[in-house]
Amino acid sequence: MHPWSAPAVPQLPGRGGPVRVHDTSTGELQVAAPGPKARLYVCGITPYDATHLGHAATYLAFDLLQRAWRDSGLQVRYAQNVTDVDDPLLERATRDGVDWRELAASQVDLFASDMEALRVLPPDAWVGAVEAIPRIAATVRAMLARGAAYTLAPEEGCEHGDVYADLSADPGFGAVAHLAREQMLALSAERGGDPQRPGKRDPLDPLLWRAAREGEPHWDGGTLGAGRPGWHVECTVIAADDLGSGFDVQGGGSDLAFPHHEMSASHGAVLYGPPFAGVYAHAGMVGLDGEKMSKSKGNLVLVSRLRAAGVEPAAVRLAVLAHHYRSDWSWTQAGLDDAAERLVRWRAAVAVGGDSEQDAVLADLRARLADDLDAPGALAVLDAWASTALAAPGGAESGQRADLVADAVDALLGIAL
Ligand code: ZN
Repeated sequence: MHPWSAPAVPQLPGRGGPVRVHDTSTGELQVAAPGPKARLYVCGITPYDATHLGHAATYLAFDLLQRAWRDSGLQVRYAQNVTDVDDPLLERATRDGVDWRELAASQVDLFASDMEALRVLPPDAWVGAVEAIPRIAATVRAMLARGAAYTLAPEEGCEHGDVYADLSADPGFGAVAHLAREQMLALSAERGGDPQRPGKRDPLDPLLWRAAREGEPHWDGGTLGAGRPGWHVECTVIAADDLGSGFDVQGGGSDLAFPHHEMSASHGAVLYGPPFAGVYAHAGMVGLDGEKMSKSKGNLVLVSRLRAAGVEPAAVRLAVLAHHYRSDWSWTQAGLDDAAERLVRWRAAVAVGGDSEQDAVLADLRARLADDLDAPGALAVLDAWASTALAAPGGAESGQRADLVADAVDALLGIAL
């Protein structure tokens, strides 16, 4: 797929230091990539509902990582998938009486335009599940061949059975999220798994290949028969193909830690040997006015709707960055108003603050971001600098534009002042 256009990123003098992020699998801060290359995979959308603030916050978190990495001199390779065939997409298309392909294409376009407006750096490889199906099918066949998967008896009316991963083939299973079995069973049921399905060797075993059903889209799977891929193996294949197994950071929202990242990592370990990724980094969940934001509650705040209402995307970006990426937080109108005011203040300070301590601001911004992408800390640095610059004697009449601060905010935070 063709990703959205990349925003220009100013080159800053000098270099940032190594970036550390919190790794879910160890519970500790880790250097996110030893270098000289940095390989990032962030799970993409299922395109059936446009970009809400929760998605935006996740992609903005990993955008900060990419920007900090680049600033520290690393060569970044970034891959992202699009789950452009899956149960929720097909269910939504049926409900709305539209073709699932058209629904997916329109939502992919909307997502891309939201990302572009938010000045998110695009992935180098943006790969749809549908285009990866031949490679995913080959991977599922390879897992069957080495005894790491099994086929259930065909359901009535089906020619072939569904294929599941056999988790007992992976002695390291559970190393990403470190959950108790009861928690894993509950989350599996809640997040798209099917622990109740009879015939599986272990209730947690995840689907690798769903045999064709009447009325469902399907593709040739060779000896698997016609069908379509499961979600976890989709990401295993797309990440490993583009980045190589053992890439640096697997990212996503915290609701993906289990089962999605656990299962993708397990498939990767079985196929290529552990670890599938060096670091598992997770962004918190975004609510609305204190409630969980969810499709079922109908309280999604969509980036596209904010844009249509005339909200400046930079204000949306800044409202998100006011919260640490790992925290769970709530979107509020007050937060957006604060961000808009902050933009006005920073722009005024940049217009006159050229005489102030710009090198120190750059160093402090770099230090904040290298420390687990501390965006709120970076905002505090800029707030303090802006107050000083605006209070300086002479003010607007004599001041020079603070180009270095403007470039730093652009390059590191993705906000043009
Ligand atoms: Zn994924």
